[in-house]
Amino acid sequence: MSTPTSSTIHLDAQFAEALPEMAVPTAAEVPAKAQLVAVNDALAAELGLDADWLRSDDGTAFLTGQDTAAGTFVAQAYSGHQFGNFNPHLGDGRALLLGELRNRAGRLRDIGLKGSGRTRFSRMGDGRAVLGPMLREYLISEAMAALGVPTTRSLAVIATGHGVRRETIQPGAMLVRVASSHLRVGSFQYARVAGDDDLLRRLADHAIARHHPDAADAENPYLALLDAVISAQASLVAQWMNVGFIHGVMNTDNMTISGETIDYGPCAFMDHFDPATVFSSIDAQRRYAYGNQPQIAHWNLVRFAETLLPLLTDTPERGIELAEASLRRFPDLYTDAWRAGLAAKLGLSAGSASAGSADGVPPELLGDLMDLLTSHALDFTTFFRALARVTSDDRTPVTSLVSEPEALDAWLTRWLDLSPDRELMDRTNPVYIPRNHLVEEALDAATGGDLAPFGTLLDAVTSPFTERAGFERYAQPAPEDFGPYTTYCGT
Ligand code: AMP
Ligand code: MG
Repeated sequence: MSTPTSSTIHLDAQFAEALPEMAVPTAAEVPAKAQLVAVNDALAAELGLDADWLRSDDGTAFLTGQDTAAGTFVAQAYSGHQFGNFNPHLGDGRALLLGELRNRAGRLRDIGLKGSGRTRFSRMGDGRAVLGPMLREYLISEAMAALGVPTTRSLAVIATGHGVRRETIQPGAMLVRVASSHLRVGSFQYARVAGDDDLLRRLADHAIARHHPDAADAENPYLALLDAVISAQASLVAQWMNVGFIHGVMNTDNMTISGETIDYGPCAFMDHFDPATVFSSIDAQRRYAYGNQPQIAHWNLVRFAETLLPLLTDTPERGIELAEASLRRFPDLYTDAWRAGLAAKLGLSAGSASAGSADGVPPELLGDLMDLLTSHALDFTTFFRALARVTSDDRTPVTSLVSEPEALDAWLTRWLDLSPDRELMDRTNPVYIPRNHLVEEALDAATGGDLAPFGTLLDAVTSPFTERAGFERYAQPAPEDFGPYTTYCGT
């Protein structure tokens, strides 16, 4: 790889300039031999970047953080509650913010690296990432985007040529991540424990300008920021629930201010419906189980509100009252978004997951549906897609999912009485999600040098609503012998 003679890209450094206390200038590690493994042409186009250029030596140098003239590269400081325990000293231990870029739509986007080497925040870690998990983040984040769920995006994965020591020696890689920003609840926790109200105010002002500009005109802008983040997270988690997504590590450092899903570590999609589902090897207490996600989001938002108290009013008691009033709205905001999303899955309203309450859908219908999904351990994705066929008088796909077909009859009749809209169902319920057995198959092959299964799976999950001939196995649940699934983080 040649050293670029001059940069064609100059990233903004708004975060680094506004918040120097939280931005540690850091160089990216030099890859032993950089090799592009995946490049996201559609995302490159959205960002106004030429995908052919990204594939050139200069482009690869940019993507791996070797073009130091392209911006001010910083490791971001943050704190966080990890599994309920506060750790003031987290930060980018293996990530860097290269800078910000305005996309074609005029919106500012962070360009960041993951797996770019040691930083001041690396602690005992090597700062590196492994090819399989970086391709996993690429695949699942792009699937989430295609499902319409707010998320960070993946621009590229580059193998570094380094051997990375885990249980075995694994191929090293970097992921190029694109985000509305990398501001997290943990960023605010860092500013708050620093005890520096000026830093906290600058951070809040930066977050308002970037994500919730209307808050700047509110009577109390910082309270409006809190409200905006509460709404964005209520909507986000409702959307996770309605696609069966389990984040797996909802620590406060992994919860964004933008309302985007971030940090695809031990995440996975639930197959058969069970609110207690946990895949992560380190979540023995089941803290981050599927069914706990709304409560955990609420808990994290309380931690966020605590950081804002010095900005809310002059009197601490009044600040607490204001924050508590805002936080009390979370359960209803979440439930409304979840119900609206579920109504659309049932073809019963034009509502989206963020469109407020689902008028006209009887709550008992939804409650009884949850009971049926649980008691028959139905495959969450297959069920809704099969259900749509019932509107065309084809009951077999759905009744064949249960041992006694009559078990669904009463519920199906009540639902059909509401005249569900099949087209709405087919554009709301995916055929293809990144099923665990398919993800493992694709990553095993990729780690062994065969990228074809990864490419085909990516193709399926990034057009998730369109049933295609030849993709039948991508719509199937895991075979019996796949067994229980376990995911790992920090790899
Ligand atoms: P995560 O669980 O991925 O959100 O990471 C939690 C913290 O551990 C963050 O501060 C990461 O930067 C850090 N971390 C994870 N893996 C590594 C690694 N291989 N080297 C250095 N720091 C790491
Ligand atoms: Mg993280």
